[in-house]
Amino acid sequence: MVSYNEHPPGHGRLGDVQRFEQTGGALCLDLANTVDNRPAGAMELLESYGDLLTWAEQAAVVTREEAAALREEAASRPGDAQAALAGARALREAIFGIFAALARGASAPEAELATLNAAIGPSLARRRIERAGEGFAWRWRFDDGALDALLAPVVESAASLLASADRPRVRECASATCGWLFIDRSRNQSRRWCDMSVCGNRAKVRRHYARTRATARA
Ligand SMILES: [Zn+2]
Repeated sequence: MVSYNEHPPGHGRLGDVQRFEQTGGALCLDLANTVDNRPAGAMELLESYGDLLTWAEQAAVVTREEAAALREEAASRPGDAQAALAGARALREAIFGIFAALARGASAPEAELATLNAAIGPSLARRRIERAGEGFAWRWRFDDGALDALLAPVVESAASLLASADRPRVRECASATCGWLFIDRSRNQSRRWCDMSVCGNRAKVRRHYARTRATARA
């Protein structure tokens, strides 16, 4: 159900470490998973608009070129960049609120559904048809300088997942210190972890990234 602009997989990979993991099985869940350790002292992974752009690039929402253009735009409009980051976090919390509730067998909260619904109109207005080879393809419009444009595919992902047969398969990771969401596509629907290796290794990867970043700054 990849419906955002298609890019070659892994194009957003950083030299030595992929900062953001895509284990959710849907773009909207991967955004929800940009908070670590929700059950016990949430750790924010989107600390800046630049982090959001890195996430979007690694999730193949935008190309490296689109990300670079947005980065430049954000540098010239820091207030708008802050607002876009706040919007991304609000959308993320709405998505988490909806799917975490459903995964726990509760009903989806009205306020979060309203947040998602309010975002659907402006997001779908970013849809367009473009020539692709001999035919045509659905694409997203990111080239008008709107810093929150990259959220449009996330909104569509959330709405599509809610209305899809995968919706009852959304689970919350069984780890007491994770809180990530994923679609359980295992045959007997027995997947309990966002990713066994990822969940266990995440702290290690973060420490490695922090070290790399510290070295780069020094
Ligand atoms: Zn996990």
